[in-house]
Amino acid sequence: SAMSGGDKLDFEIRPNPQPVAPAERDALMANPGFGRVFTDHMVTVRYAEGKGWYDARVEARAPIPMDPASAVLHYAQEIFEGLKAYHAADGSVTMFRPDANAARFADSARRMAMPPLPQQVFLDSLRHLIEIDRAWLPTTEEGSLYLRPFMFANEVFLGVRPSNEYLYVLIGSPVGSYFPRGVQPVNVWVSPTYTRAAPGGTGEAKCGGNYAASLAAQAEAMEHGCEQVVFLDAVQRRYVDELGGMNVFYVYDDGSLVTPPLGGTILPGITRESVMTLARQAGRTVVERPVAFDEWQADAASGRLREVFACGTAAVITPIGVVRHPDGEFRIADGSPGEVTTGLRQSLVDLQRGRAEDVNDWIHHI
Ligand code: PMP
Repeated sequence: SAMSGGDKLDFEIRPNPQPVAPAERDALMANPGFGRVFTDHMVTVRYAEGKGWYDARVEARAPIPMDPASAVLHYAQEIFEGLKAYHAADGSVTMFRPDANAARFADSARRMAMPPLPQQVFLDSLRHLIEIDRAWLPTTEEGSLYLRPFMFANEVFLGVRPSNEYLYVLIGSPVGSYFPRGVQPVNVWVSPTYTRAAPGGTGEAKCGGNYAASLAAQAEAMEHGCEQVVFLDAVQRRYVDELGGMNVFYVYDDGSLVTPPLGGTILPGITRESVMTLARQAGRTVVERPVAFDEWQADAASGRLREVFACGTAAVITPIGVVRHPDGEFRIADGSPGEVTTGLRQSLVDLQRGRAEDVNDWIHHI
């Protein structure tokens, strides 16, 4: 049977009979940008109530036929993850803490009343896609294979209740640098209009709905010449939660780091957790506490605040240069990347590329 013990599946492998020709693939990968170029294959796994997970496959990447009454199209019961596979110094392929993505995917599923995908199935799906689409892994220093696991409700039913059927899918996309300008400080916009997540809501889940709700805020940021939006807490509109797609860290003149605490409204970033661990292992003090926007502004003005950076899988660590808000703007230090930001970024990148000793056992080799 395809099921063995309920949490490990045998994947049926059906290689794409018409893969992209090598010359065309090389042309696509020369300047892939972010999220526009895709590999030859995808992984799919189905779930049905009473049957469990079944029909795990690796097959040609192709459109997914959907019934117009498929539940996800109406009530947005959908979750996703994002992680990268890297070309390592020794020629192997590495992934950074994929077990943490598997755990967060299961947490997101529970919040959205979906069945959690077993961690082993999640990890096996990643391994299968990387093995079959290895030729799509960029070998450049900035490049990587972005992996996008996602799952949605596909029962054909218009009633408002958790779906009885789900489809898990994994696709891969070779990517370059996330921000077109590379590692340059980004400008951020503190939205006076929109919030991202309320207590008791879905802020800590990686569900598509959170991102749909953030797009108007992101557009507002762009209108003000900023690359990212800063969300304040939804209750008092006073404390900094996070950015549209990244967590935030503050570096003070005593060398300590501060980041807002997880409390249900912030996405528990894997980069965030890794930065806290690396900084502590380097002897720094790291404190999780609320940071008020007023305090951010005052500490930037006094010089006590030396660096601010955003972090996440897509852009690793990115310094924040200018903070714009409805009443004006201010700069962090002289607006150029600080040494703590740059050092932490280098530590993470060296780990991901297999160039640093992996004392925390974060790297999975394939
Ligand atoms: N916050 C939000 C809203 C995000 O979408 C992301 C990206 N997943 C992050 C933070 C950073 O999370 P991670 O470090 O796990 O990529």
